[in-house]
Amino acid sequence: MHGVNMKHKDFKPCHCCGRGVMHAGNPLFLRISVERLGVDARAVQQARGMEMMMGGSALLANIMGVDADLAKVIDGRDDMLICSQCADKPLPPYFWLEEATKS
Ligand SMILES: [Zn+2]
Repeated sequence: MHGVNMKHKDFKPCHCCGRGVMHAGNPLFLRISVERLGVDARAVQQARGMEMMMGGSALLANIMGVDADLAKVIDGRDDMLICSQCADKPLPPYFWLEEATKS
């Protein structure tokens, strides 16, 4: 699946080094979307209960049940741009978690 092309307003500095995404001359860069989700334990229990009522069939339970969201988005989508130089380096610990809690 292809994402959406970028216009001038969509550009921002590299998330890792803070410089322009083409600062090293390479026109290729990464765009990464991060979302944090949480499992809704109650909804999972209800889905499991429905599954047991349907003799263990998850498919039947989905058809007969409410088909509830079992995990919900806590933090919305946040696009990060990563320049080609930083894309080659290992990420610092908790990189993804920090991004999710930042906004
Ligand atoms: Zn960078």
